[in-house]
Amino acid sequence: MESDHYVNSHQETKFIHSGQQPDPITGAVVTPISLATTFAQRGPGGLYSTYEYSRTGNPTREAFEKNLAAAEGGKYGVAFASGCAATNVLMALYGPGDHIVTSDDVYGGTRRLFSKYSAPKQNIEYSFVNTSDLGALEAAFKENTKLLWIETPTNPTLKITDIEAACKIAHNHNCLVAVDNTFASPYCQSPMALGADIVVHSVTKYIGGHTDVVMGVVITSNEDVYKQLKFFQNTLGGVPAPFDCYNALKGMKTLHLRMKAHSKNALKVAQFLETHSMVTKVIYPGLVSHPQHNIAKKQMRLFSGMITFYIKGGLETSRVFLSSTKLFICAESLGAVECLMEHPALMTHASVSSEVRAELGISDSLIRLSIGVEHIDDIIEDLRYALAKAQESLEKVVDDDDDNACGGLFG
Ligand SMILES: *Cc1c(COP(=O)(O)O)cnc(C)c1O
Repeated sequence: MESDHYVNSHQETKFIHSGQQPDPITGAVVTPISLATTFAQRGPGGLYSTYEYSRTGNPTREAFEKNLAAAEGGKYGVAFASGCAATNVLMALYGPGDHIVTSDDVYGGTRRLFSKYSAPKQNIEYSFVNTSDLGALEAAFKENTKLLWIETPTNPTLKITDIEAACKIAHNHNCLVAVDNTFASPYCQSPMALGADIVVHSVTKYIGGHTDVVMGVVITSNEDVYKQLKFFQNTLGGVPAPFDCYNALKGMKTLHLRMKAHSKNALKVAQFLETHSMVTKVIYPGLVSHPQHNIAKKQMRLFSGMITFYIKGGLETSRVFLSSTKLFICAESLGAVECLMEHPALMTHASVSSEVRAELGISDSLIRLSIGVEHIDDIIEDLRYALAKAQESLEKVVDDDDDNACGGLFG
């Protein structure tokens, strides 16, 4: 499964070529979408190739898996029908009596999977800790801790965990480390080079990049982990369709171009928001004001395209802002060419309890932006307009309150 040919190439070259070669029969330069569910045998067991049945192995999927393995600097990639399916299959490696330490601020769907499915049904014990705090991280390990799961930057508050330091701590406890690298993408951050044993991606986001594929992937160089993942991929069956693998592979070919554009636009937007009177706080790892900016600088090639900010006022101003843009589309998901925005408390993190949301700072004023690759002037103009609308509504609320006060006095 290794992809040796481009092993010494630069990342951009690997993104475009790894796992693929011109078709030996036709010379087709692009990996075909192999739709066959089954592969002929010259009598029982006499395979023409390594392929037998498409759940077990598919040529388009394998090209993608090899490509992602190379992109993350790992030996093996195993693809799944969604990011959640990828996470779930990794959890299938663990069971009763095992303890897993995880970042507290993980993707809402990951938190739901861990706390509402994996903990009660698989009897795995989870500790949700602030992994940005290495002291708290160290204190969370137990005798039976088998895995450290880190998400960095986190969703939605973009906290950064020092991957290298966290891996050292975990390895001292004989524990593997998995990093959800979705927010950074394989271009902005390479967790395996910093010591991580496993990388997980929701391919749905930056890798796909065009809002048209739901998929997930796990990458590792650990033979034992790989064998189990492969076994569970076939046994549990949550494989992606060949068409999706083709689309994701196509996404990889422009990943570096897109990430440069996303990161460049996002920094400008973050700087703009920081100066706006309707914004009380901006969180972006590329800003000097980010509490872990120095760690981000150390471990990220670029700071990616995700920004979180707190708007002045509460739920109502958030609502006005989110319904006043013309370019930004109010929708869940992230990481694609178009600008998206969402309200974590009402949308992506609605399944997280209100107590946990409060702990994590996911308030009614929190807005998450996924900065696209449109022209920066259009992006900023759209935000300026929506913030002005939000400001009008806030001033109106204040005026109305004054009227009520008068009504109270004279009525
Ligand atoms: C979207 C997302 C997931 C889940 O991926 P799906 O493809 O939606 O199943 C996991 N982690 C992060 C950080 C995500 O953004």
